Amino acid sequence: MAFEGLSDKLSAAFKRLRSKGRLTESDVKDAMREVRLALLEADVNYKVAKDFVAAVTARAVGSDVLTSLTPAQQVIKIVDEELTSLMGAENSRIQFSSKIPTIIMMCGLQGSGKTTHSAKLARYFKKQGKRPLLVACDVYRPAAIEQLKVVGEKAGAPVFDMGQGDPVKIAKKAISHAKDYGHDIVILDTAGRLHIDEQLMGELKNIKAEVGPHEILLVIDSMTGQDAVNVAKSFDEALGIDGVILTKLDGDTRGGAALSVRAVTGKPIKFVGMGEKLDDLEPFYPDRMASRILGMGDVLTLIDKAQEQLDFKSSEKMAKKLKENSFDLDDLLEQMKQIRKMGPLGQILSMLPGVKGQIGDEEAQQGEAQLRQVESIINSMTRAERAKPAIINPSRKRRIAAGSGTKVEDVNRLLRQFDQMQKMMKQFGSMGGKKGKRLRAM
Ligand code: GDP
Repeated sequence: MAFEGLSDKLSAAFKRLRSKGRLTESDVKDAMREVRLALLEADVNYKVAKDFVAAVTARAVGSDVLTSLTPAQQVIKIVDEELTSLMGAENSRIQFSSKIPTIIMMCGLQGSGKTTHSAKLARYFKKQGKRPLLVACDVYRPAAIEQLKVVGEKAGAPVFDMGQGDPVKIAKKAISHAKDYGHDIVILDTAGRLHIDEQLMGELKNIKAEVGPHEILLVIDSMTGQDAVNVAKSFDEALGIDGVILTKLDGDTRGGAALSVRAVTGKPIKFVGMGEKLDDLEPFYPDRMASRILGMGDVLTLIDKAQEQLDFKSSEKMAKKLKENSFDLDDLLEQMKQIRKMGPLGQILSMLPGVKGQIGDEEAQQGEAQLRQVESIINSMTRAERAKPAIINPSRKRRIAAGSGTKVEDVNRLLRQFDQMQKMMKQFGSMGGKKGKRLRAM
């Protein structure tokens, strides 16, 4: 999970501050030395870390923070605000053009996740009711065109390609095609190289000059840390970019690129990639990210995810079933699937305030494994068994355990838990109807 080490070290530094009650200037300076080290260990750019600590220190010792009733809390608040402004103060949205279509040019080095994120963006816009067109401008590798077609299909967005022609011509043709067929967004997947070279930059500049994209988004791989930041600086100097998509944040335990890229390039992170699946894309909100780093959770993103992923019609149906006490194992399975659609358990839990640091990766993985086990047990039951677990006798239990690769004890545990759940639901159900009676009896 991103920022793990940084979060742990910051919370240790703040714990020491909190334990002190009154703070002196040197307490703050000691804590800030720890913060600086923590930032450097998270692979934050050296100058960025130095400036950050200087800014926090100046605010913390120069005002009436130290004489306040909760000095440690005030210092943490300042760190929160400065982290937020370091990453860009607010969410930077995609600028839509008043002229249709809006043209988004994706660029980046090979392997950064450019093609995947072109498709993720297409899917993101589709969910908002837009009609994106993906364009294969990476003409050097036939495999790249194929890959875009594969992910485009998954995203439900058409892909425009002309094989291995001139990328400028392809882009222009694609834009007129988009106008003819009512696509309001065109996403150009341009060529990537292993390193920045003049030829690549020349080609990108040509496309920019001829097509006039409304947004040039640079895709960088957060796992490459400060290299990614340097790539961003070079692309911005040579081509001029509008924003960054920071990919593979799910696998980056340090988070240095996320914290440095804005300060070094002056360009905002607009989206982050949180996994290989097309839904693993989040708009980047600096305040929410700061909150996650400081272990304060990110309930707002969790709500966004729930709204995006959960099927509310099914939730209503479930609520009705709960009320009528007809919730069966099939319904439980469906609810679990819905929760899992929101992402890995560890990622979901880390967005809850206070959970980060309390539940380790290992525990999250255990939880995930348990969820999977319950799913496979239910999947090994017949329809009748799912609807009426009472019929599951010892021989059925043995069959279910064998089918799901589990033990009879595991099947028993699930049935017991489900039975308790049903009893609880019965109580809730009867509380609604017989409230008056119960109250009188009390
Ligand atoms: P391109 O060469 O820049 O077009 O990169 P690709 O889109 O082909 O991505 C390279 C690899 O990174 C693929 O295996 C992707 O599945 C993987 N990838 C892309 N984005 C993410 C992400 O956000 N998280 C993770 N874990 N993997 C990613």
